[in-house]
Amino acid sequence: MSRFFSSRYRDLEAYVPGEQPKQMKYIKLNTNESPFPPSQSVADAVAKEASRLPLYPDPECTEFREELAALYGVFKEETFVTNGSDDILNFAFMAFVDPEIGAAFADITYGFYEVFAELHHLPYKKIPLLDDFSLDIEAFKKANETLFIANPNAPTGLALPPSVIEEIVSSNPNRMVVIDEAYVEFGAESCLPLLKKYDNVLIVRTFSKSRSLAGGRLGYAFGRQEIISELNTLKYSMNPYNVNRLTLAAGLEILRLDEIVQENCRQISLIRERTAQKLTDMGFFVTDSRANFLFARHPQLSGEEYYAELKKRGVLVRHFSNPRIVEYNRISIGSASDMETFCRLTAEILKEKEISL
Ligand SMILES: *Cc1c(COP(=O)(O)O)cnc(C)c1O
Repeated sequence: MSRFFSSRYRDLEAYVPGEQPKQMKYIKLNTNESPFPPSQSVADAVAKEASRLPLYPDPECTEFREELAALYGVFKEETFVTNGSDDILNFAFMAFVDPEIGAAFADITYGFYEVFAELHHLPYKKIPLLDDFSLDIEAFKKANETLFIANPNAPTGLALPPSVIEEIVSSNPNRMVVIDEAYVEFGAESCLPLLKKYDNVLIVRTFSKSRSLAGGRLGYAFGRQEIISELNTLKYSMNPYNVNRLTLAAGLEILRLDEIVQENCRQISLIRERTAQKLTDMGFFVTDSRANFLFARHPQLSGEEYYAELKKRGVLVRHFSNPRIVEYNRISIGSASDMETFCRLTAEILKEKEISL
């Protein structure tokens, strides 16, 4: 560490993203990207926009927000757009977590919540998931902190119905509840309708998982007008142009192709169910995931060993060192043929370890 690094950040432990191997010889099932490339018309829209690259993008993302608002039945002023949804989560920690009150989130959830809390020196509390990895709803209702809830949760994939989230939201109207819906399109129900009834909710979404745009970096959120305007105060205090022209052009075209997006999500859900069944038949325990990944462990094969054996055979999945989930792996849902290969290699590994099916 250099002697110039600010003392404020010396102890910071940065988020560790999933591996992004340079050679694409791996079947990548480790970062929940979409296996479907965007349509040709998306590439065309980006190519067309390239001639305007000398000009700054629209900091308000007006056209995109208008179409986003129309698609989801909200007002444009209730939408917020940034460079990936991690940006929104970061702004939400800055804007809505008071240092005197702090944040609360599950002990097993998206790892970035803790990183943001640490980054901004905000106190936080981890509320342990119950033994079956479900959210401790009573504990969340009692908490006075700003709440961060991934629904479906990652990496467990478990989802709560909006009625349960509503119980949490309504249990204390004086604290904000940030609902991270990164995976909601794969079979869970959105909490967007809560926005009409409550002013203490922020719903965060992304183009990275369901809309084949992880590389473009596009995140969006829904909240009451006042809340969005406060998020904009922070965005305009840091980088008003944080969504670039090419990404906005791609995003706009993808919004217009929403039926394709919905169909892709249906496909992913089907492949997920098929893969879950095959894993269960091979003796795995698999959570009831509503996301574009599975979370699985085998009683006779350690999580770490399974990860390493898959990697040796050219398949990358995500393994976490947190002791509570160390026996699990998170497996992104890829194309049907990639998932067939994954299942075949899994059977091979079990056979080699002499684990009978
Ligand atoms: C992937 C993910 C995000 C962030 O996605 P971006 O690519 O930054 O839009 C946010 N929350 C959860 C739970 C995620 O899994």
